[in-house]
This record gives sequence, structure tokens and C-alpha cells, in this order.
Amino acid sequence: MSFRTRFAPSPTGPLHLGHAYSALLAHDMARAAGGAFLLRMEDTDLQRSKPEWDAQIRSDLTWLGLSWDAPVLRQSEQLSAYMPAIETLAAKDLLYPCSCTRSDILAAQTAPQEGAFQQVYPGICKSRGMSSRKAGDALRLHLDRALALFGSDLPSFTETGPAHAGTHKITPAQALCTIGDVVLFRKSDEIVAYFLASALDDHAQNITHTVRGEDLFAFTAIQVLLLAMLGHPAPVYHHHKLIRDEAGKRLAKRDDARAISKYREDGLSPADIREMVGLTG
Ligand code: GLU
Repeated sequence: MSFRTRFAPSPTGPLHLGHAYSALLAHDMARAAGGAFLLRMEDTDLQRSKPEWDAQIRSDLTWLGLSWDAPVLRQSEQLSAYMPAIETLAAKDLLYPCSCTRSDILAAQTAPQEGAFQQVYPGICKSRGMSSRKAGDALRLHLDRALALFGSDLPSFTETGPAHAGTHKITPAQALCTIGDVVLFRKSDEIVAYFLASALDDHAQNITHTVRGEDLFAFTAIQVLLLAMLGHPAPVYHHHKLIRDEAGKRLAKRDDARAISKYREDGLSPADIREMVGLTG
């Protein structure tokens, strides 16, 4: 299959330099390979996602010279498409209902935890079966049972990004210590969580290469596991460098001074933006 990638922003703020780099890089890789570049709005956070940001992001990407090869896919418009995956995992006894609040989880933790998954769930509701599910419960992945499905043959994935290039085999220790029993279905708004929605969309959109920021590398193992549990192959992953400010801090959506729209107002050109993120020539 020919190279097919995507840019998948969450429309919860302006497109900043870091996003522009991600989109330009993915687009350049697709064009260089004679492949396709898609745009997907990951707008499942219904409170923070706004149509204005969606429109601004598309306007900024077009201004940067990017075009996408299929209509924009919006996750909020296809929530029902994710439900069969939840049902499949539930039928395989790989999910359990959870009614814990953030404070229940904090209270059960013995020591503060570091890392991408700040809160590996301490397992308060783990012994609950799906038959005990109440309205408003979240659904968590029963990771031990998920790992047991694979025995000693856990899935692996290929990474081509500069920091972690190579083949990565998921290990039970890594999965249990860094991933834990993630929420796949959120109780507050009955929405499939990012890990699953994004992985399912990559599969549904036939993405061959998932190009995204280095900060998301930690999510790859869980997404590869979920895809494997559902019988889907994983794409190749390419996690790129992050664009940082002068102090070395990663740019976030709240860094409005770095918003592409601000640079546009100030009269900079798309070539200037490319130069600022090191994508010239
Ligand atoms: N929607 C995610 C974000 O804006 C990116 C997800 C991905 O590229 O896999 O951070």
C-alpha cells in the first residue's frame, strides 16, 4: 500500500509552530513518497473543541500550502463507528466498569507517579464484571487479561522517528507499569477515549505511517495493543522532534504568541514558518 499519513489536531486552540511542523513534515513525507495526506479533527473533547478552532486550523494549514486528499474526518461525527470495538472488547471480557473519581484514584495511590501516564489506575474496580455496569460508569481495559491473550508473543511496532528508530516489542512489564488499565469509554460524556478512537481511525483511514510528536510516543504501545486485540495491523510510527521555546519548553496551545495566526498577522510568510521549524530545502 502506498504511503498514507495524516495530521490529527484537536481543535481546542490555535495551530502553533509545533503543530505547523507536524503537519508540514507529514505532508512533505506524503508528497515525497507520492502518497496521501489526510486531515482528521480529533474533537471528542466536546467541551474544549470549538468549530472556530477547527476553521482556524484549516485556514492556517491552507495558508501554509497544505492540501488534504480526502474530506476532513471529524471524530465527533462518527462516535457510533467506535462502538463495535467497545462491544468486541467487552464480549472478550477485556473491559470492566469503573465508577472511580479522580480523588478515589489519588487516595488509593501509595506514591506519586511520574511519566506520560501520570496515573496508572490502582485497580479499585478491577474485580467488577460487566454485568455490574451502572449508568455513568466508565469502561477500563483489563490489561492483565489483554496481555494474557498474546501469551509470550506480544505485538511489536516499527518506529522510524529519530529518537526511537527500530522495532519495539511491547513487554508485559512496560505495559503494566506505564499503561495500566486505561479508560476506553469515558463516563462523563459516553465517548470513546482518545487512545482507541485515534487508533481505530488510523486503521479505518488506511494510514500506513502515523506521523506525530515525540510526546505521543508513550501512547504507541497501548494503541498497538488495542489494534492487535481487534485484529487490526498497526501502522508504522514516526515520532518527530518537538518545537520548543527559547527556554526549552514544549509549545502548547496556550502559547498564543506562537500561534500561526499571529505570525500571519505580523506579515510572515509560509516560507518563514518553514525556516523557523527547520524544514527548508
Ligand atoms: N489529537 C492529538 C493531539 O492533538 C494527536 C493524536 C495523534 O496524532 O495521534 O495531540
